[in-house]
Parts: sequence; structure tokens; C-alpha cells
Amino acid sequence: MNSRLSPETAAMRDMVLAFAGRDLPSAADAFDAADFRRRWRLAGKQGLTGATVPAEYGGSGLDAESAAVLLEALGEGCADTGFAFSVAAHLLACLMPIVEFGTNEQKRHWLPALCSGERIAAHGITEPEAGSDTLNLRTRAERQGDHYLLNGSKCFTTNAPVADVFIVQAATRPSGGFFGLTAFIIEAGTPGLRVGRPYAKTGLRGSPTADVYFDDCAVPAGHVLGTEGTGATVFTGSMKWERTCLFAVYLGAMRRVLDDTVAFAAEREQFGAPIGEFQAVSHRIVDMVLALESARLLLFDAARRLSAGEDCDVASALAKLAVTEAAVKLGLDAVQLRGAAGVLDGGPGDLLRDALPARIFSGTNEIQKNNIARALGIGRRRPSPRR
Ligand SMILES: Cc1cc2nc3c(=O)[nH]c(=O)nc-3n(C[C@H](O)[C@H](O)[C@H](O)COP(=O)(O)OP(=O)(O)OC[C@H]3O[C@@H](n4cnc5c(N)ncnc54)[C@H](O)[C@@H]3O)c2cc1C
Repeated sequence: MNSRLSPETAAMRDMVLAFAGRDLPSAADAFDAADFRRRWRLAGKQGLTGATVPAEYGGSGLDAESAAVLLEALGEGCADTGFAFSVAAHLLACLMPIVEFGTNEQKRHWLPALCSGERIAAHGITEPEAGSDTLNLRTRAERQGDHYLLNGSKCFTTNAPVADVFIVQAATRPSGGFFGLTAFIIEAGTPGLRVGRPYAKTGLRGSPTADVYFDDCAVPAGHVLGTEGTGATVFTGSMKWERTCLFAVYLGAMRRVLDDTVAFAAEREQFGAPIGEFQAVSHRIVDMVLALESARLLLFDAARRLSAGEDCDVASALAKLAVTEAAVKLGLDAVQLRGAAGVLDGGPGDLLRDALPARIFSGTNEIQKNNIARALGIGRRRPSPRR
């Protein structure tokens, strides 16, 4: 696959790999907002935080295929997978909806600082009562003259503790199904918007997550992204980007752990021989290679389709499934092959912990299977909205 990269794309990959390994390791043991922002600015200078945004708005104008190469290199170079995930979520779930659905004025207003690394974005749709069932939001947005009043809350919002801008989905027509949602761009610090305490998570600890509350939060009507009632279309568009490109971060993280595991199996001796000579070990490693390479082919196929403007719904769902299941399996196998050292912080157990949430966000793996089954003409149709 890499032999088919253009010289420019290969140079970009090498640059990102070197940069991420050198400049993105966290300087702090626990999550540190100031250090996160310092690294974010560096990532912005390298063009990572605006990679797929057109150059006229401050981005690098990459297509999905090149973005997947870039994010794979970021995931491989940056041992803090949480940070890489935060960058990808900002880019794909927040900036790309503005690129695809924003007015020219909105793009000019919001995108340059979000691309440069000066500002950070978060995307909120999930609510305590609406996880997979995204159309049944309880957060309401009521039009009042030249603004909307938002009331409700979001949970599991990536980047919320450090975000300057929020892309928020709210119901403008409760029980309106696909046409009942509207997307808003909201400035942090808007009266009535409050961010909760950062969660303590099992994995992706370098990515800050929190609840977001709206209490009579007045948002100018000019901050609607798309038009009233098109929130679900905006969300679907962002998930197309996220499911296709974000998981490239995990391909990179898997590559890093796999390379370390191969080196370890060649070095570590027991019973007078490197453990890689034992077939139980070498076959496990071959299975890891197979899981990674097959998931990689699916992801790059989805990215190629997205770049070509082809339908990529099934391809991106298959890629999301394959990459995340492979990451969990590869993480488990890498821990086993290290023996006791595998469970120490900073070891391959980090990949396992970081992979567990990946089976859940961007639509759980069960929801991906439902969507693929529907595309095959089988499987349950989406139930009508609750009243
Ligand atoms: C690290 C992390 C970061 C996240 N970041 C964001 C973010 O930035 N913004 C945001 O809005 N959200 C975010 N989320 C939330 C994420 O999108 C939701 O967790 C996800 O959509 C699932 O919702 P839920 O957790 O409420 O699970 P539920 O929907 O309650 O599902 C529980 C279980 O039931 C299964 N299930 C539910 N319905 C069906 C069905 N119809 N068929 C089969 N199985 C089903 C699910 O697959 C799952 O196994 C994040 C989550 C995590 C873990």
C-alpha cells in the first residue's frame, strides 16, 4: 500500500511520523490542559488540526485518502493515542461539517483559528438518554426572534473541557425524526453553556471528555449550521468522515505496538531461545499482522471511495468494525506476548485500553452491523421516533 503513495504524500507521512514522535509526547503524567494546548498549537503549525479543510480557510486541503495516511502516521508516532484521537475528532466531526454545510461567512469566521491550532472544537450529540438512538434528543432549541434558546445536556463530549467552539445537535421539532434536529455552532463562554468535570476514563486518557449543559443558552440564528431541520444530515456527513478517517489513528497505534512486539519476540529468551522461535508465539504474531493489514485495506478502500465522491457508507462501517476489533485483539495479544511486563502502564496494555472505547464511539460496532445489514436488504428498519 505504501509503495503506491506519491512522493509528496510519502514525505508528508514521514514528516508527521517524526514530528509526532518528537514533539507530541505528553510532558505530564496526568491530563494537563495547558500542556494539551501547547501540543495542540504545535500540531496546528504542522497542519494536522486543519488537514482536510480547504486552503482558502487555513487548512491543508487534503482528500480523505491523504488524511488517512496523515492520521495513521500521527497514530504511529504519537504514543498518546488520546491526543491523536482528540485531533481527529476535532477535524472530522467539527471542522468538516462547517466545510460541508457552513455558509461562506461561517467558514471565514470559524475555520482559520480552528485550523491553525489556536482554537479547539468539540462535537455534542450524545445525551444520557440518547446514545445510539441519536434522533431522540431531549436537548431542545426553541426559536425566539433572532436567536434560539437551548436547554438540555450532552454527555461524553470529546474535547469539551478544553473546547473554544461546540458543534451541538438539538431538537427543533421534538419527535420530528430525521428532520427534527438542527446543528448549531456555539462559542465557549456563551451564557447558559457550562462544561462539567473531566471524566476519568479507562482508555484514551489523553483526550479530555465531559458533559455539557445548556440552560437557556441563547445562540444567534446565524449560528445554525445548515438550516433548521437538517441536523441529522450534518451529523451523517460528519460520521462519514469520522468512520472513514479517524480510525487510521488506530492503524498507526497498532503498527507501533506490532513492531515493538516483533522486536521483543526476537530478543526475549526463555528456555535458551528467543520466544519468537516458539510456534505459539510466531503464529500469534502472524495473526496480528493479518488483522492489521486486512483492516488497513478496508479503511483505505473506504477513504479512496470518499475521496472519489463514491458512496462509502458500507465501506466505512466495515472499516470501523475491522479496525476496532483488530485493535482490541492486537492489544490483547501484545499484552500476552510480553508476559507480566505487558500489564505495566506505557506498555501494550495502553493499546487495549485505548481500543475499548473505539468499539463504542462513532456509532457502536453493533450499530455498524445493523447499518450494513440494512444495506444488504435485511435487518430491522430504524424504529419510528418515540412520542
Ligand atoms: C471515548 C468516547 C468519546 C466519545 N466522544 C463523543 C463526542 O465527542 N460526541 C458525542 O456526541 N458522543 C461521543 N461519545 C459517545 C458515543 O457516541 C456513544 O457512547 C455511542 O453512540 C453509544 O451510545 P451509549 O454509550 O449511550 O450506548 P447505548 O446506545 O445505550 O448502547 C448500549 C449497548 O446497546 C447496544 N445497542 C443499542 N441499540 C442497539 C440496537 N438497535 N441494536 C443492537 N445493539 C444496540 C449498543 O451497541 C451497546 O452495546 C463518545 C464515547 C466515548 C466512549
